[in-house]
Amino acid sequence: MEADLLELAAPGVQGLQPYAPGKPLSELEREYGIRNAVKLASNENPLGPSSAVIDALRGEFDELARYPDGNGFELKAELASMLGMHTDCITLGNGSNDVLELVARAFLTPQTSAVFSAHAFAVYPIVTQAIGAHGRVVPAHDGSSGPRFGHDLEAMAKAITGDTRVVFIANPNNPTGTWVDRGSLRRFVESVPASVVVVVDEAYFEYVDKADYPNAMRWVNEIPNLLVTRTFSKAYGLASLRIGYGVSQPVIADILNRVRQPFNVNSFSQAAAVAALRDKAHLAESVRINREGMDQLQKGIQTLGLDYIPSVGNFISFDVGRDPEAAYEALLRNGVIVRPVANYGLPGYLRVSVGLPEENQRFLKALEQVLS
Ligand code: PMP
Repeated sequence: MEADLLELAAPGVQGLQPYAPGKPLSELEREYGIRNAVKLASNENPLGPSSAVIDALRGEFDELARYPDGNGFELKAELASMLGMHTDCITLGNGSNDVLELVARAFLTPQTSAVFSAHAFAVYPIVTQAIGAHGRVVPAHDGSSGPRFGHDLEAMAKAITGDTRVVFIANPNNPTGTWVDRGSLRRFVESVPASVVVVVDEAYFEYVDKADYPNAMRWVNEIPNLLVTRTFSKAYGLASLRIGYGVSQPVIADILNRVRQPFNVNSFSQAAAVAALRDKAHLAESVRINREGMDQLQKGIQTLGLDYIPSVGNFISFDVGRDPEAAYEALLRNGVIVRPVANYGLPGYLRVSVGLPEENQRFLKALEQVLS
């Protein structure tokens, strides 16, 4: 008799839904025969990376047969100098997702729990459930005492119990684009028991332009149970290379390093990240393009009479006011890829990433057609 292999999988894994990524352009072309489509589905940088990155990648080809530097010496040195931290505080990851998973593997067990918000980034429940740990989902603000769909930090603090080992905060969050201010986050972090690792996920840090937005990395030296993650996938335009990092006190970094695969970040990514960090002008230009594009999208969505969630990231979720799956499909047929977010507890919504001005325009025109 054949074994039911699914039943043999670890209990947490049996009920897991795999992460649903944005549809790649090549897939749209393959499945729908549509060319010249625009992809605004994965919060990528529409400008692409700095040209210095391309040069740095070329320099790596001669070393293709060698393993990368498993300790990421040069990149850590560059990051440490930029952040004013010691290199012992840095954990490099194959995307910041990798760091989030290292946290789960290092700190969670089936007997423990992780706390995160409703509508929070999908990787938190995935890495928690994969371990078989309990994910405690805290309802988000309903709009009466905080931004609608935003993390309710007071409720999250109350959801922490004796079995909690990790709490995930996305600041800003994806797909809502909501954020928590400095005072609230600081109060929250200080209220969390020292036995709980607080992960502040700042994947969209570089884009945020709010006086009250906290740079949680500044607190790492004072707070031993804090880990802040960032990525090169968004504002630095290196999503394909898969590289991100975490910053914590050396004790947490040492623990994460114990479960990290020996060569989790390849040499191309490391070299590219160093070059990307050094090109401040490209970063500034990426942020500027995003600010203008966000303005364009918000105005356009508003003009179409649709409700949206104000976002400080490089994406915006809006209420299509009709079957979002059908609207998503119709947009695909118009050559525009966006992202359905029903799986985030936002059933009427679609998320669109900020593109170049002409891409945003193309999306708004396609949306207008779909709605009419
Ligand atoms: N955190 C948040 C909030 C995100 O939206 C993303 C990307 N979708 C990530 C982390 C992970 O990005 P990466 O693994 O590419 O660094």
